[in-house]
Amino acid sequence: MTPFIGKAAILALSIVSASAYASHWSYEGEGSPEHWGALDEAYKTCQSGMNQSPVNIDSTIKAHLTPLKTHYIDGPVTLTNNGHTIQAAEKPDTPDTITLDNQSWALQQFHFHAPSENTIHGKKFDMEMHLVHKNADGALTVVAVMFEKGAANAELDKLWGIMPGQAEQSATLDTKLDLNKLLPKNKTYWRFSGSLTTPPCSEGVTWVVLKNPMTLSATQLEKFTHTMHHDNNRPVQSLHGRVVVE
Ligand SMILES: [Zn+2]
Repeated sequence: MTPFIGKAAILALSIVSASAYASHWSYEGEGSPEHWGALDEAYKTCQSGMNQSPVNIDSTIKAHLTPLKTHYIDGPVTLTNNGHTIQAAEKPDTPDTITLDNQSWALQQFHFHAPSENTIHGKKFDMEMHLVHKNADGALTVVAVMFEKGAANAELDKLWGIMPGQAEQSATLDTKLDLNKLLPKNKTYWRFSGSLTTPPCSEGVTWVVLKNPMTLSATQLEKFTHTMHHDNNRPVQSLHGRVVVE
């Protein structure tokens, strides 16, 4: 049976898609970052929040930070082009964790921004990877790794080799990914309190930005930027008195 769609139904459908469009955030045009807070009631923290990310890391306070310990085990990943970024997720039962503040934080997903979102002394890096972790209470810690143009990263090539070209496409890596090879050996870091860098810009996120950048080749960077079609970095936000510790 072919369902008959009357005028009223078509009108209802167009209203739904219009409101979906109104709250559609992006990095350019009407949905660009300066408008995020006004696009949807659920996004108002993007505009009113006082602990927003990303930030420019400039003056810092020396503290005795405990070392960041990563426990990443080789595993398969699924890569999704969600239209905003290329996001990788492992199987839900994969025990990839970090230890921070004597707590275990489980890796949820990781994704990429080009150019970088956080800046260091005003400098943007070519790309930034965000590894999003959650603890037992549901709080988030994001570990950020900067990439600059240089030698190609072979582990990144595994991911980039299956990068879905179109939004809403996914692909699964049939070999195992060694996530450790996307992170520097020296894991000293800057730390501050911030937010998600995409709507709804929720705060209470612990940011751990690794000081040592990795490299990727110009070709690897181009593959990402061509697939995204545009920059996917939110501009830096005011610190509003927050401190960055190292
Ligand atoms: Zn991110």
